[in-house]
Amino acid sequence: MSLTGKRALVTGSTSGIGLGIARALADQGASLMLNGLGEQSVIEGIRQEIRDRSGTPVHFSPANMANPGEIEQMIQQAAEAMGGLDILVNNAGIQFVSPVDEFPVEKWDQIIAINLSASFHTIRTAVPIMKQQGWGRIINIASAHALVASPCKAAYVAAKHGIAGLTKVVALETAPHGITVNAIAPGYVETPLVTGQIADTARARGMSEEEVLKDVIQAVQHTGRLIEVSEVAELAVFLCSDAAASITGSVQSIDGGWTAC
Ligand code: NAD
Repeated sequence: MSLTGKRALVTGSTSGIGLGIARALADQGASLMLNGLGEQSVIEGIRQEIRDRSGTPVHFSPANMANPGEIEQMIQQAAEAMGGLDILVNNAGIQFVSPVDEFPVEKWDQIIAINLSASFHTIRTAVPIMKQQGWGRIINIASAHALVASPCKAAYVAAKHGIAGLTKVVALETAPHGITVNAIAPGYVETPLVTGQIADTARARGMSEEEVLKDVIQAVQHTGRLIEVSEVAELAVFLCSDAAASITGSVQSIDGGWTAC
């Protein structure tokens, strides 16, 4: 499959799943705009590495996904720098683990802003560009937590359920314009977000880290292992292909069977 000539923006692509998706899209020939937090020298290294292996242009936007003005500007800059925008992957996300009656209000606001509202802002700005082109692919990185809940994750689960709803609405609105909109709902993927969460969950639920791994993560993922970033990235690449033109408004589980029961 080739994505040569396609222009992609992946939010939160300086780490984990977003970085894996960005690499996979570039490997198929897409031009890229990366986004995310991190040290400038590290980000420059990532840009260079992707450019060298794929030979495609790689831009970067430092836009903060908690800031609607910066998000709008990022979409316009991406379209200007690459001459259009064909693929939008809403991936940036954070986590915070706490019982609901102790959940810090500022953490709730931050998670809703970055994990949910940011996707509304990228989408509302990108859709007119894609409509004009008559082709577009929007992929929202949701979570198994878009379908089921876990204790101590009120904001994250609320935001991810919201992403599933947003995906469906925008899919209906954009279907006549050659645009597909889908969510990917991974279980636990081996990334810095999950590694950090093991310690936080152990603290919040009074468990050891070994118990969290065995009783919280491996217990729900029936494959008995964490998912690899490359598995999620390959699904994203497929959703960008012409073969996936009729897949829209879907929430694609990739969770080792977690949400099957
Ligand atoms: P990660 O921590 O490795 O990466 C998160 C990315 O988001 C980083 O590039 C970070 O810089 C960026 N980011 C965070 N706050 C930002 C902000 N305010 N502005 C711009 N960028 C910001 O995490 P990950 O595990 O790769 O998670 C990526 C996405 O996948 C998230 O939406 C997460 O909810 C989702 N997800 C992860 C898992 C998992 O098990 N790792 C499972 C399901 C869903």
